[in-house]
Parts: sequence; C-alpha cells; structure tokens
Amino acid sequence: MAPVAIGEEVLFDPTRRWVSRASCRTVSSARFFVDGPAFPRIPPSAAQQAGWDLAKKICHHCPVLAECRRDSLGEEYGVWGGLDERERYLIRTRLSQRARRWPAARRLAWGKELLALRDGGNTWTRIRAMTGIGDRLGELLIDEWVTHRALTAQPPAAVVELPLPAPGGMIQPPFPAVPGRRHAWVRRAGRITDAHYRGQTEDGAWISVQLRTGKGNSIQFVRSEDVQIYHPQPVVIVTYIGRPDREQQSQAG
Ligand code: SF4
Repeated sequence: MAPVAIGEEVLFDPTRRWVSRASCRTVSSARFFVDGPAFPRIPPSAAQQAGWDLAKKICHHCPVLAECRRDSLGEEYGVWGGLDERERYLIRTRLSQRARRWPAARRLAWGKELLALRDGGNTWTRIRAMTGIGDRLGELLIDEWVTHRALTAQPPAAVVELPLPAPGGMIQPPFPAVPGRRHAWVRRAGRITDAHYRGQTEDGAWISVQLRTGKGNSIQFVRSEDVQIYHPQPVVIVTYIGRPDREQQSQAG
C-alpha cells in the first residue's frame, strides 16, 4: 500500500517504510514495552513510567520520530514516536475535537481513505490500530467524503442526436427556391453559390461554372448533381481531361 497523502502532506503510511531507518531497530523491544498496570483503566506505576522515559530517550534521537509518531497513534501498548501509552491515549480521546479544525481537504482525504479501509474488510478496531481514528470520528469523515463525492460527481454525458453526414462527407444544403442573378445555383463546400454556366462534359456528369470564391472569380468543374440551372442555357460540350471520378476508377482498377 502506498502512503496516503494530500499534496505534500502524508496522512499515514500503512507500510511504515521508515522502519528501516529507525533508531530502535537494533534495540530490544523490551525497552519500549515495559510491564506494568494495564493502562488506561489503571494509571502507570512509577517503575513503568520510568521505563517509558528511558525508551523515549532513544526516540528523541531517532531520524524518523515524526513519521513514527504519525503512524503509531493507534498503537495501544509501548512507546512509539517518543510518546507513551498514556500520551497517545489522551491524543486519541481528543482527536474528534482536533479534527474539527482540520482543513476540509484533510478531512475529505481521511474520509476517502477510511472508506477504502472499511470497505476493504477491516474492522474499526483494526482501522483504529492503523490510523488512530476510531469508529465515531471515522464514520463522520466517511459521511463527509461520500456527500462531497455525490455533490461533485459529473453528470452522465448527454446523448445528442446529430444528423448523420451524407455519404462522402458534408451535409449538403438544398438549392434555394428562387433564382439567382446568373445561370445556376452551385453547391460547393457545403454552400450554395450563384454561378455562370460555361459548359459540360459530354456525358453531362461534370458542369463547368464560373463562380465567386474567397479568392475572386474562379472557373471550376462541379458534379452535375451539385448544379441547378435555373435559366435555360445552350449546351456547350467541353473536354475535361483527368476527371476526378475517372482517376478514382483507374486507381481502383
Ligand atoms: S521514534 Fe522511537 S519507536 Fe519510533 S522508530 Fe524511532 S526509536 Fe523506534
């Protein structure tokens, strides 16, 4: 499991990667787990407290004291991160109050993580041992996260029915019902343009027209289905060598 973080701040590291750098790794665990009354029901004896204080001296020179203290809040017994059982117990009992002052991002990040732990099959006893957060505060943080997630969820994408493009590309506009000032309406690049008729190929498949383009007047061949001649014109046969449809046919062949 990776450390849980918001921005630069690590909330807790479930795998405790810092252990390999701990000062106590070569010290007997008996130094940190001192026999004595079972706290918190019974206060520690003087001997137990003295034992804890000795262990804390090792912690105070430990390079991972901060990380250890962050991740051991839920530990019930022994000295961890320079804190004894009683000190950690008191921090845990005040955790709900302290959590009220946490930034919203921190509360939500904890809520999200606790939800994952809870839904991952961990009991609250186990979660508290890992994080120091018990069921009451934990459920509160989870509720905040679930509410936030519902409010900020993106609505499902709407399906928009768009007309399918005509075969071969663009949706072609219909010819206007009224004549223009020249000879024919020409449908070109998805627009209707008034144009002069100049002739056509022998089979009538292509019409030569003069029309206005963005670069001025232009003479072009246009497919006959894209031309509507509205003033009768004498048919003029013109040669169109290298017709686009013939090129396609010859390539296909
Ligand atoms: S802070 Fe103390 S208990 Fe924690 S790793 Fe360091 S020496 Fe061990």
